[in-house]
Amino acid sequence: MASDSLDVGSIKVRVLDDGIFITDAGNLFGEGSRQKIRGAMHVVLVATGEALVLLDAGFGPELPEYLESRYELRREKNLMDRLEEAGHEPEDITHIVLSHLDVDHVGWAINPPSFPNATVYVQKDALEEARGMPEEDSRRKAVPAVENGVYEGWCELLDGPGEIVEGLRVEVRSGHSEGHQISWIESDGDAALFTADLAPAKIWLNPDLISGVDTDPEAARKNRIEVLTEAAERDAPVILYHEPRDFLVRIRKTEEGFKGVPWED
Ligand SMILES: [Zn+2]
Repeated sequence: MASDSLDVGSIKVRVLDDGIFITDAGNLFGEGSRQKIRGAMHVVLVATGEALVLLDAGFGPELPEYLESRYELRREKNLMDRLEEAGHEPEDITHIVLSHLDVDHVGWAINPPSFPNATVYVQKDALEEARGMPEEDSRRKAVPAVENGVYEGWCELLDGPGEIVEGLRVEVRSGHSEGHQISWIESDGDAALFTADLAPAKIWLNPDLISGVDTDPEAARKNRIEVLTEAAERDAPVILYHEPRDFLVRIRKTEEGFKGVPWED
């Protein structure tokens, strides 16, 4: 079992999980691929001392009905169980940063608001893109909840990069979606990176991977190279949201691109 906790300066980071999904690779890489793919959902808990932040929010209480034919969700424990194991109540969460509006990232944050004291942060461009998606798209399905959150005041729309709380900075790195944001955790000269779906698993460390799920593959490729180069240069641990096992890695440059080596203390 890989380590699930790290210290970034004075900030405590813990990787929680919301189970595993199984889907046809064709759903991720386009028609023709008949393999099954397993993806974890590794939600990141960031404790800065003042704030208790979640980066992304898993699939939520259950698999939405419209996905039942395409996805299978396997879990013995869910995000709420893991949060409790980490010693926290849902009421303790103060901020939730959503990388984008795909269903496997927003579940517990918006449906229903499971964290009564948290402000949920979404990029304006991600919401705008989702509004234009077809009815059955999972990003589109998140729109009413996000709009309701804005109306009720528990959701805040961001317009570009910024600091959410001291030590937690978001950067817009589009490609997988418009307004897709990644999070840098920084304290006392240390840094860690949550790439979300810009590079969600080790296979995505190959910048030339063309994924059917990226809205703009060329932007994704460019951003992936820039961000992974920075992570390698800073020797920052990177948290891979969908990687089942080695979800905490350091990035090394290789001839072909990048590789992730398991992070150790
Ligand atoms: Zn995802």
